[in-house]
Amino acid sequence: MSIQTTNPATNKVVKSFDEMTDEQVEAAIEKSNHFFQEWKKTIYDERAKVLHKVAELMRKRKSELAKLVTLEMGKIIAQAEWEVDLSADILDYYADNGAAFLADKKLNPESGEAFIRNSPKGVLFGVMPWNFPFYQIVRFAAPNIMAGNTILLKHASIVPQCGIAIEELFKEAKAPEGLYINLMISGKRSTALVSDERIKGVSLTGSEGAGSSFAEAAGKNLKKSVLELGGSDAFIVLEDADIDTAVEMAIEGRFNNNGQSCIASKRFIAVAGIADEFLEKFAKKIASLKVGDPMDPDTQVGPLSSEDALVNILDQVNRFEKAGAKILVGGKRAFDTGAFMQPTILTNLKRGVPTFQEELFGPVASFYKVENEQEAIDLANDSPFGLGGSIFTKDIERAKRLADEIDSGMIFINQPTGTQPDLPFGGTKRSGYGRELSELGIHEFVNKKLIRVS
Ligand code: NAP
Repeated sequence: MSIQTTNPATNKVVKSFDEMTDEQVEAAIEKSNHFFQEWKKTIYDERAKVLHKVAELMRKRKSELAKLVTLEMGKIIAQAEWEVDLSADILDYYADNGAAFLADKKLNPESGEAFIRNSPKGVLFGVMPWNFPFYQIVRFAAPNIMAGNTILLKHASIVPQCGIAIEELFKEAKAPEGLYINLMISGKRSTALVSDERIKGVSLTGSEGAGSSFAEAAGKNLKKSVLELGGSDAFIVLEDADIDTAVEMAIEGRFNNNGQSCIASKRFIAVAGIADEFLEKFAKKIASLKVGDPMDPDTQVGPLSSEDALVNILDQVNRFEKAGAKILVGGKRAFDTGAFMQPTILTNLKRGVPTFQEELFGPVASFYKVENEQEAIDLANDSPFGLGGSIFTKDIERAKRLADEIDSGMIFINQPTGTQPDLPFGGTKRSGYGRELSELGIHEFVNKKLIRVS
């Protein structure tokens, strides 16, 4: 059974699900497309009412939904509750601001009248990952529902109950049938749907491999796509940084979500002068992190999302070691039961070896000591990814100048890369294209129609 809930804290299968048949998928696409003809004519207030209601229900059920997240992918419970709150905030944000973002834009041609109207495109198909099972869905669905599109959503196969819960929230909010449909299918079957001509746009958040096959299908079918893929964010600590703050932020940036975040700080780059002190304090804190049951409020790092994810990252660490890296702290499975890994830090990493360019998607920090600012920037840019990145310094003007030199979609000064409803999210290079959240996120799947009056 490929779609199932397995508790990664115990590696026990909790519940298995049948995939939808081709006929059921066909009926879902048809329903979504049929309902779009009505939804596109609704006024913004009507759309906002649905989103506000889903947000209200999410907050009401926060504890229950958070427990589901923790059960299915191992996020520690306080962070799961935070995610549910953030998801509700995103729904409210688009309900409150969507109409203004999409208002007609008056143009000033030499003569006559002209304006741009944002019209919905139709059925959108989203494929989403397990690492933020509510947030990832909502940041795609909320702006697009507000824009008048309808949603087909294929969630990751390891979080089926979260996928079902979101669809149920829409039902309970009395959203019309066809507005939001959960497709219980595997990743393998998803790409084929891209060619369905009733689907007008596609969005995938996940790995490079899945992204590239999805985008290939979108390109072949001349369809708009948005991709949010991997990241290997640099966390640069300059000589004038407040070291204790940088260490605290480094722990948060690397170990939030048990290290499985695309925007996690992954490569820690410190300049000579402060590098040794930073490393000593960072390593000491990593060694003291409490690993354990994600339902226990005292736990700081829970399990990886699955046994497969654990095996994969242990193999990566092994390959890094063979390529010359030194394991300063951790590096091993944490307990006999469950997908737990010791929080880890690697040093002595070399540029140019094949492992250097890999994303470490788990509780493993890589550390680099560099001579100066320029070397830090060069190293930060020596990555196929370009999602986020951080610069730590007391000189904000210097940080703003350096931000220009880093090839990424987001730069955060004196904090790890983060997310909130009103700030755009997205990357460049192999981290994908397009933006989600903020005003930018609602403009990805609309037809910017010119209306000209002579
Ligand atoms: P993944 O394997 O690519 O899975 C993500 C989603 O894609 C799942 O729903 C999966 O379905 C589906 N999928 C897998 N192969 C597919 C294919 N060939 N065609 C279409 N869909 C396919 O990703 P993951 O390894 O679980 O997630 C981790 C990666 O996602 C990391 O690289 C991480 O950095 C990235 N990520 C990026 C962002 C961002 O916003 N930039 C956010 C979170 C994660 P199944 O589960 O059924 O296989």
